[in-house]
Amino acid sequence: MRCPSCGAMETRVIETRTAGEGRIIRRRRECPDCSHRFTTYEKAEEKRTLRVIKKDGSRETFSRDKVLRGISRACEKLPVSLEQIEDLAAKIEDGLRSEGLGEVPVSEIGRRVMEGLREINQVAYVRFASVYREFTDLQSFQQEIARLIGEKEGNRNGNGGKS
Ligand SMILES: [Zn+2]
Repeated sequence: MRCPSCGAMETRVIETRTAGEGRIIRRRRECPDCSHRFTTYEKAEEKRTLRVIKKDGSRETFSRDKVLRGISRACEKLPVSLEQIEDLAAKIEDGLRSEGLGEVPVSEIGRRVMEGLREINQVAYVRFASVYREFTDLQSFQQEIARLIGEKEGNRNGNGGKS
């Protein structure tokens, strides 16, 4: 935390308290350079930032909106409610945060979106998978479709395909 008085990069925490039923962390800080004291308030859930490792290796802050947009795009014109889309995005974010991951590869988020969509809508799942897995040829795409259809028929036969 930067000193607001002299701009020094490092300041010392001299006291930490929680407020608002533990949802706010109040920190009393002191600058070792100019002895300026100040107080910061942070939301408890933002104490740990979640970052996404992109394909090119760069990092960006996790954005639930981005996940939401990705899911929405896959669900366009399908009978999927906004609530289902928001629930899935929230589930993914909560899962990543509760696992205490500081950084997560974008491919891992994609995998979780895929898993979630599979339960919600098969067409949305295939749409998303085709982008995420970057099917390089028509054959691998067709294999995936065939696998899906096979699974569906397995369900219809009552063994759920998992016996
Ligand atoms: Zn200072």
